[in-house]
Amino acid sequence: MLFSGKKNKIGQLCAEIVTQSDDAVVIVDSTHRIVLFNHGAELMFGYPEKETRGERLDLLMPERFQLQNEAILEEIGAETSGKISQQRRTRQLHCRRKDGNEFTASAQILRLQHAGAIYYAAIFRDISQSKKTEEELLRLAATDPLTGAYNRREFSLMVEREALRSHRYHHALSLIMFDLDLFKKLNDSYGHTAGDKALQRFTTLCTNTLRNVDMFGRWGGEEFVALLPETDIEGASIIAERLRKIVGESVLTYNEHKISFTVSIGIAQFKDGETTIEGPLSRADSAVYDAKKAGRNRISAFRN
Ligand code: GH3
Ligand code: MG
Ligand code: MG
Repeated sequence: MLFSGKKNKIGQLCAEIVTQSDDAVVIVDSTHRIVLFNHGAELMFGYPEKETRGERLDLLMPERFQLQNEAILEEIGAETSGKISQQRRTRQLHCRRKDGNEFTASAQILRLQHAGAIYYAAIFRDISQSKKTEEELLRLAATDPLTGAYNRREFSLMVEREALRSHRYHHALSLIMFDLDLFKKLNDSYGHTAGDKALQRFTTLCTNTLRNVDMFGRWGGEEFVALLPETDIEGASIIAERLRKIVGESVLTYNEHKISFTVSIGIAQFKDGETTIEGPLSRADSAVYDAKKAGRNRISAFRN
């Protein structure tokens, strides 16, 4: 062990703290071979210390992250001033336990010098749980709780990003607006919970039918929107007609009722240089109005 045999009392006490600490501490030499693996590291990574001695640090990382992790050590190693900020010393590392499970750890990485040789010490903290919580919070902020579709705010942001990209590459971009037909009547006939289930079914049918690059959101109530990159109004009309048919043919079973519902759909293409949702949304909305007026359960395209 690195500090063993050292006369200095403080040094020995420090070594004892590291050895016994529940915080995972791993020290590697300049060739990234493990020279110290404390009790906390045994708990975190699942390896007994003796299986890690002399092994490369790669043992603790999934292959696909090894280059990235090595680059972090090299970057910190290149800093000879000894005044690296706390923020820059603390990095997120992708790690792997002995059983193959992967996790994200926050590691404080220190560059050490001892008897003329360079070492790196990493003090690890498993942050998988807080990362999961953070991801879950981001998901909740971006989606509608009933259907899981993107909410209005997130959808509008995605539209702006996508419209800028389409404008830059001169690609077509279309917006579809959906308004479920006579939904008030569905609620009145079968109850609000049946209505909720119909909204969830509608979302599943749309997201299963649209492409991965398409975006689907709940604009509010029984109104939904979809953004179709690289799609002109003709292409969007084909998809809209397919969706209209699939929705009309779907039967929802609820409390022994067999419930069918339909949707009216408006389609609008972005004009060149249009980078917010307002213009295309108001045209798609007016197309929905035409579809309703023409008898519902139909699509209508707004011709620019
Ligand atoms: P139209 O064909 O003209 O669109 O008729 P409609 O009944 O769908 O239109 P209207 O806008 O009058 O009614 C929309 C209904 O959608 C009223 C509202 O109770 C219902 N609705 C909105 N949000 C929800 C929801 O989250 N759950 C349920 N179950 N119903 C909802
Ligand atoms: Mg409506
Ligand atoms: Mg409606």
